[in-house]
Amino acid sequence: MKPSSMSRTYQAYTLRNLKQIPQVQKLPRTVRRELETVGRVYPFRTNNYVVEELIDWDHALDDPFFISTFPTKGMLIPAHYEEIAKAIRKNTGTAEIEAIANHIRSQLNPHPAGQIEYNIPYLDGMPLPGIQHKYPQTVLFFPAQGQTCHAYCSFCFRWSQFAGPGNLKIAAHRIEPLIRYLSRHPEVSDVLLTGGDPLVMKTRLLATYIDALLAADLPHLETIRIGTKTLSYWPHRFTTDADAQDLLKLFTKVTRNNKHLALMAHFNHPRELETQTVREAIARVRETGAQIRTQSPLLAHINDRPDIWARMWKTQTALGCIPYYMFVTRDTGAQHYFGVPLIRAWEIFKDAYRNVTGLARTVRGPSMSVVPGKIEISGIGHIKGERVLVLQFLQARNPHWVKQPFFAEYNEKATWLDELKPFGKENFFFTEP
Ligand SMILES: *Cc1c(COP(=O)(O)O)cnc(C)c1O
Ligand code: SF4
Repeated sequence: MKPSSMSRTYQAYTLRNLKQIPQVQKLPRTVRRELETVGRVYPFRTNNYVVEELIDWDHALDDPFFISTFPTKGMLIPAHYEEIAKAIRKNTGTAEIEAIANHIRSQLNPHPAGQIEYNIPYLDGMPLPGIQHKYPQTVLFFPAQGQTCHAYCSFCFRWSQFAGPGNLKIAAHRIEPLIRYLSRHPEVSDVLLTGGDPLVMKTRLLATYIDALLAADLPHLETIRIGTKTLSYWPHRFTTDADAQDLLKLFTKVTRNNKHLALMAHFNHPRELETQTVREAIARVRETGAQIRTQSPLLAHINDRPDIWARMWKTQTALGCIPYYMFVTRDTGAQHYFGVPLIRAWEIFKDAYRNVTGLARTVRGPSMSVVPGKIEISGIGHIKGERVLVLQFLQARNPHWVKQPFFAEYNEKATWLDELKPFGKENFFFTEP
């Protein structure tokens, strides 16, 4: 094997040890105060790889990785910002500040797309916690120990898993119920381990879950997917961490068992693909026979330009990764700050897509994850001289809805489905009585 990249000991940073980041101490005082204020509402955690290798501290306030992991003032609407800032200024007790933070959180749609109410499957009449089954082919499994991340994204749609009352709301402690469920659901071909980030788990622990899935010997289980941001936020997990080699061996074991192993890797910006460590990590993962598919939300202040996406998809393809989804920023948390209008999202997608090789056009989007399914903004059309927004389901709760074009009134401001009006009729076809 090639010589290893530099090893690093993982160091997490939160509000408690913020002062240990020398670069933060050099930021303007107001920025530091804003960070500490907004960080009371949203979860904040970053690490030494993000700080040392990704963030360009000379331009920190415009830097995509600073904005991705550090809370900034714009993430709260002014009224909420003032409310929490006032409590901190008055030196109200910690419990009271937390109560105010919880009240603000409750107004930020902490559980978008009915994740908690709609997607929990049942086995013998009992709900299965930590499991979601929305689309026939794929079951999501949230291992309890994988419900944190190497750093928290400021735009994360699962932010309330990490902050606020009773966090870890979606978590499974055992895999046996999943296996029993799968054995009765031959339509399921994919299990997606997700979080949080399951690759925060030590290999030994992750192996207990994966070995159980392999040992169950379910012929209809074709693919194990792992949803992860680790390639971007802690690539040492695959190179120099103490159990990195064991992790790669575990991946190889899956592929040798004739199961497809898909790393659903979260990348937001081409610069994440440029460090020596991430390049080595990608190469090592690919040597195991696992496939890396990439996905990202489209985010204002971070990646809302077609050239960024074109460069990202080109680089991914050159590194042997497969571009998979561009998502629309969900209607939760700081959507008012990171969200991009749907029509603008489609323009960015189209302008990036037409500038990359066909091999990178495996990507689909922009895709909006809503209660009925994943809706792609396909483009602008004309019906009897009027402009309309053309949409279709890429995934749907009811599989018959997939790939059926439908239309909404043209609206340049809308950032989410609930702001769209059906074109020429009362209801969208999927909400018709
Ligand atoms: C996106 C998603 C999936 C996976 O969909 P694919 O199109 O197969 O990648 C599965 N379950 C839920 C709840 C999802 O949101
Ligand atoms: S890594 Fe994924 S789950 Fe974790 S904070 Fe970022 S977006 Fe959320």
